[in-house]
Amino acid sequence: MKDPTEDTQLAFYAALVTDDTLRAAYVNVGEKASGTQTVEQPAVVEARDALVAGIIEDFRRIGQGATLPPLGEGAVCDYCTARGLCRKDFWDEAAPPPGVEPIGGSTQ
Ligand code: SF4
Repeated sequence: MKDPTEDTQLAFYAALVTDDTLRAAYVNVGEKASGTQTVEQPAVVEARDALVAGIIEDFRRIGQGATLPPLGEGAVCDYCTARGLCRKDFWDEAAPPPGVEPIGGSTQ
């Protein structure tokens, strides 16, 4: 993994453990000649800490009224079964309150 903060699955699991000497890995079960491989996430504690800090910050901002824009793009949204829930098609009409930045990036 080039950027440990891009992987949130192992970081979420690590957040369930208070230990700071964790090891975590994916097991890629291969049916080809390459076989089954273990891919360790060597920075899982750092990824966990960054994830937890980000969640705390997001909740703080939500408490201040920050909005949660849909972040999907392109063809993914065309086939997404949650499209009605995220309100992507109505987002442009729902401008955030003045002075409140959306969480997760721009709306476009
Ligand atoms: S339709 Fe909404 S929930 Fe689905 S991928 Fe796009 S932004 Fe995400």
